[in-house]
Amino acid sequence: MDLLIAKNSGFCFGVEKAVKTTLHTLNENKSNVFSLGPIIHNEQVINLLKSKGLIIINNIKDVNKGKVIIRSHGVPLDVYSYAKNVGLELIDCTCPFVRNVQQKANEFFNNGYTIVIIGDSKHPEVIGINGWCNNQAIIVNSENDINKVPLTDKLCIVSQTTMTLEKFQKLSRLVQEKGKSVKIFNTICNATNLRQESTKEIAKKVNAMIVIGGHHSSNTRKLAEISKKYCHNVYHIETLDELPVDKLRNIKRIGITAGASTPDWIIENIINYLNNMFNKS
Ligand code: SF4
Repeated sequence: MDLLIAKNSGFCFGVEKAVKTTLHTLNENKSNVFSLGPIIHNEQVINLLKSKGLIIINNIKDVNKGKVIIRSHGVPLDVYSYAKNVGLELIDCTCPFVRNVQQKANEFFNNGYTIVIIGDSKHPEVIGINGWCNNQAIIVNSENDINKVPLTDKLCIVSQTTMTLEKFQKLSRLVQEKGKSVKIFNTICNATNLRQESTKEIAKKVNAMIVIGGHHSSNTRKLAEISKKYCHNVYHIETLDELPVDKLRNIKRIGITAGASTPDWIIENIINYLNNMFNKS
């Protein structure tokens, strides 16, 4: 069996920084360390952080003392003002690529533009970006949402960072017809693009694809979606336990890719297992 591993896979820059900062904060502080939502969409990493004392809260108003870690997805602007008012220390791990989208939304909203975010309205990153334009953005995630965008003079289109380029281009083309003066910012992050491109490259060449990452991780799910376009046997698994060993037994070439929130140790476990199982000489 041949194993092809996607060149760009696993932890992205933003997630790596958030996990390292959280571990560092937990080493320095034995109590009252909170994160606003789970730091990443990976149960194994979350369990590790919880075992070191991290407490996950869903609302900033649930705490009034201690340190609160802002994850790479970012948060609405009012979280910063609340923290300042009650004296909470924020440890801000908002990824710089997400910050760029938040700032664009904020700047153009303040200049009278209607903001359209191409993305998933339930995703925390999109909820956060919307909070930088007074929660007045119009969220477009499919062609059915286009009619929510009013005809307007000034329109600014941004994207959730994990959106596929194909979907962003298709939807922004339709949205831009609603405005006279239109600013379009492709704010898809490079890490996402690189992972999607490397996944596409190897999915074309293999007989089965293993996509490793949290079942709730949107960027991992997108890698599985892309893989399915080029390969008929795609398995999205979170850990080694879920590896469909029997189905892989007679496969000649297996491709491996992993989402931006998948730690190296989980990827290595799976690669080692496959090598031991199928490539014993
Ligand atoms: S996927 Fe991109 S935008 Fe999101 S955290 Fe990683 S580097 Fe930042």
